[in-house]
Amino acid sequence: MDTFSLQRESMVKRQIERRGITDTRVLEAMRMVPRHLFFPRPDAFDAYADSPAPIGFGQTISQPYIVALMTSLLQLSPTDTILEIGTGSGYQAAVLSSLVNRVVSLEINPYLAERAANTLRWLHFDNVQVFACDGSSGYPAFQPYQGILVTACAPVTPQPLLEQLDSEAHLVLPVEERGGQRLRIWKKDASGHLGYTDHIPVAFVPLRGKFGYQIAP
Ligand code: SAH
Repeated sequence: MDTFSLQRESMVKRQIERRGITDTRVLEAMRMVPRHLFFPRPDAFDAYADSPAPIGFGQTISQPYIVALMTSLLQLSPTDTILEIGTGSGYQAAVLSSLVNRVVSLEINPYLAERAANTLRWLHFDNVQVFACDGSSGYPAFQPYQGILVTACAPVTPQPLLEQLDSEAHLVLPVEERGGQRLRIWKKDASGHLGYTDHIPVAFVPLRGKFGYQIAP
């Protein structure tokens, strides 16, 4: 085992399992994906630390535990098509890649989109497609999605994402709630009814675009 695999083993044990994530497929994916290769610097010695990290353009790669938590909340199946909004480094998309059939990932910053697409191609995460666009309206071409994940904080849940969600599927996103951020989990039931529960407080960069915050890029 190389030093990075050992670091990943320890990351999964100390940061993820210890905090209560038990989904063995998610744990296996977290053990497998080389997180350090998604960092902009090749000498990413701190890639397995228990924290988010900068990836350039004022954006961040999420803390490993948050990636594992959001992934397990989606309750994925191998046949699913999943939509991610906020590709960033491509790391979260890579974690999803081994758990589902297809990952569609949207990134508003064209430089980040291209860099992530290159990393994912280089590492052979071939079932991930990255599109450089405003993802706050979702991506109707491949709907319905059996899971949707937003990795930037929205002011309110974007309506198009709820519409593009399949029945019996989950949408997981950070939303602003009374000045703080919460991880919100929407579920569409078999008859199309929507309901949500709020999970832990989180700290994500803002979602921009039509259904996000109206801030200059
Ligand atoms: N999931 C990423 C981390 C995402 S950071 C990873 O694993 O590395 C949040 C990302 O959301 C940033 O890259 C930011 O540019 C992007 N973003 C913000 N608003 C967006 C929008 N409307 N559509 C698509 N991407 C958006």
